Amino acid sequence: MNFAIVSRGDERSDNVKAKMKQYLIDFDLAYNEQEPDLVISVGGDGTFLEAFRRYIHRLDKTAFLGVHTGHLGFYTDWTADELEKLVIEIAKTPFHVVEYPLLEVIIRFKKDEKPLKTLALNEMTVKTLEGSVVFDVQIRGEHFETFRGDGLCISTPSGSTAYNKSLGGGIIHPSLEAIQVTEIASINNRVFRTIGSPLILPKHHTCLLRPYQKDRFIIGIDHITKTYSDVKSIQCRVARERIRFVRYRPFPFWNRVRDSFIAEAKPKEEWQ
Ligand code: NAD
Repeated sequence: MNFAIVSRGDERSDNVKAKMKQYLIDFDLAYNEQEPDLVISVGGDGTFLEAFRRYIHRLDKTAFLGVHTGHLGFYTDWTADELEKLVIEIAKTPFHVVEYPLLEVIIRFKKDEKPLKTLALNEMTVKTLEGSVVFDVQIRGEHFETFRGDGLCISTPSGSTAYNKSLGGGIIHPSLEAIQVTEIASINNRVFRTIGSPLILPKHHTCLLRPYQKDRFIIGIDHITKTYSDVKSIQCRVARERIRFVRYRPFPFWNRVRDSFIAEAKPKEEWQ
């Protein structure tokens, strides 16, 4: 089996990477950054998002695994202290794969520029440099609303615990093939009206954003944010591609949600 390791680049993560690489080579696995069957990210969720982006062109041939060198992450379930155990699992045990849905984003431009098609593991966000954005929001080809506000966030189920959650979106189990559209500070008054609630769209239901007036936007795809000009539309739907996670032990989604957001809360006995 070929493997590659993507490190966050800090001293601790680089040390873990070096150790892991050597252990796995000692077990006769081949280090191959071009065509890995297994990609290990060492760092945090941001490192995992970077590893995903680096190997986005071969998702059908690559499975991912995350080791965290800081706090427990959503995509990183192994700790750096479990290195030896993990290396033995990788070398000796055939891995079980769990697939999660992704978001397909197509940005089309006014001029004859080629549309930009990409995938997001967490979400796509669209905002403007100044003032508010105004979008004709279409769902399945039909006008749904005219959105005016700071922006919109369209997320995957596994990304529903990230930016989407901060915006009041719901948490969606990644076994559901869906995307969620969440508002970022919509303007609602006697002139402008939006639905106000997050929308959950099933597979095959496309959400199309067509801007009015402005055509220059700040578009974030996971951890990468760029400014795009001459934007004609932004189309989002559940992608045909999926991400494959390697599992050597159960990592239930709801446990992860609890451990990340609830576990620190005081148990009943300690209530004052
Ligand atoms: P970062 O360093 O700003 O970290 C953002 C935080 O989001 C980290 O704690 C990370 O662990 C966490 N995170 C990332 N993916 C997650 C997920 N699927 N579920 C729960 N938590 C998750 O940025 P980064 O590490 O490069 O990550 C980029 C992500 O940050 C974006 O995809 C976006 O979801 C998130 N973000 C959140 C907010 C917000 O909540 N207000 C604002 C901007 C970006």
